[in-house]
Amino acid sequence: MNEFELIDYFFKSNTALRQDVIIGIGDDAACVEVPSGHQLLISCDTLVADVHFLSTWDPYFIAYKAVMVNISDIAAMAGTPAWMSLALTLPAFDKVWLERFSQGLHDALGQFNVSLIGGDTTRGPLSMTLTIHGLVAKGQAVMRSGARVGDSIFVTGELGAAALAVTALANASLDVADKQLLEDKLMRPQPRVDWAPCLREFATAAIDISDGLSADLNHICVASKLGACLNLEKIPCHPILERLGVNPLDYALSGGDDYELCFTVPFEKKTELIRYLEAKQWPVYEIGTIEARHGLRAKHASGEVTSLPARGYCHFGARGC
Ligand code: ADP
Ligand code: MG
Repeated sequence: MNEFELIDYFFKSNTALRQDVIIGIGDDAACVEVPSGHQLLISCDTLVADVHFLSTWDPYFIAYKAVMVNISDIAAMAGTPAWMSLALTLPAFDKVWLERFSQGLHDALGQFNVSLIGGDTTRGPLSMTLTIHGLVAKGQAVMRSGARVGDSIFVTGELGAAALAVTALANASLDVADKQLLEDKLMRPQPRVDWAPCLREFATAAIDISDGLSADLNHICVASKLGACLNLEKIPCHPILERLGVNPLDYALSGGDDYELCFTVPFEKKTELIRYLEAKQWPVYEIGTIEARHGLRAKHASGEVTSLPARGYCHFGARGC
């Protein structure tokens, strides 16, 4: 199979085509129709073998996760994902590997009605760069920079399990249910795309938690030129953390890979938000407040407030950047 046959067979033939794709895979560039009154959201993520995933993973989940983490960036801007491109670098042509990879890719894209509209295929060490394009009504994107003093800080789910999975899955004594749970958290993240209307209605700022709550909340603070105080008792640490004997807050605050959303809501909209979420039966956790003083602080059960380092995953330099 040459490069073009490979693209046709694995990527073009089973792509779900949206009405708004004028030209997808196969021309020099894709052409899509952006609906009037909307803006484009564009984000790309590179995943490198043995940095973001292990080359020993089932390729289905390498692709699945790559798509989901990319879509999560559109969710965090309160948009709707629409089109994806994939630049794939492969060490060799491996039909079995590509079958699984493309299956995971198309399954993940199909869940959110995203069309694969193009890409690039090259030979080299295994890595991939995915670019997602999303849509949002003009002026409705929720940015990191919009938080205000007094806003409450919320997160959409329990944190820390995906980060624990990285080390715990190597442990042979793990029971079957825990292994399944950790694999799900690590390899099958569920981006919070459903929350986009809620963010547009209530949030002043939002981010998805990819590097760790403290690091990602700090991005909101820096962009908004403000600080935050987290109520440590209120942080929803995943129950598996305590069960497996690690410090839950360490993982929840700086673990990363959760893909929950962290967002800020003005005081006057809080009651309405809670009512909205109760009607949907969606869990949400209020974990702190935006403050004028720069930096992060932690309020302990004793009432004591200490400064909190913004720690998370970082490619260059030690943790703590
Ligand atoms: P060009 O040489 O003009 O850049 P390519 O030969 O790289 O074109 O790609 C041919 C077509 O296949 C293009 O439409 C491109 O977007 C698409 N394509 C290439 N690789 C992939 C891939 N991994 N996934 C999806 N589409 C791809
Ligand atoms: Mg090319």
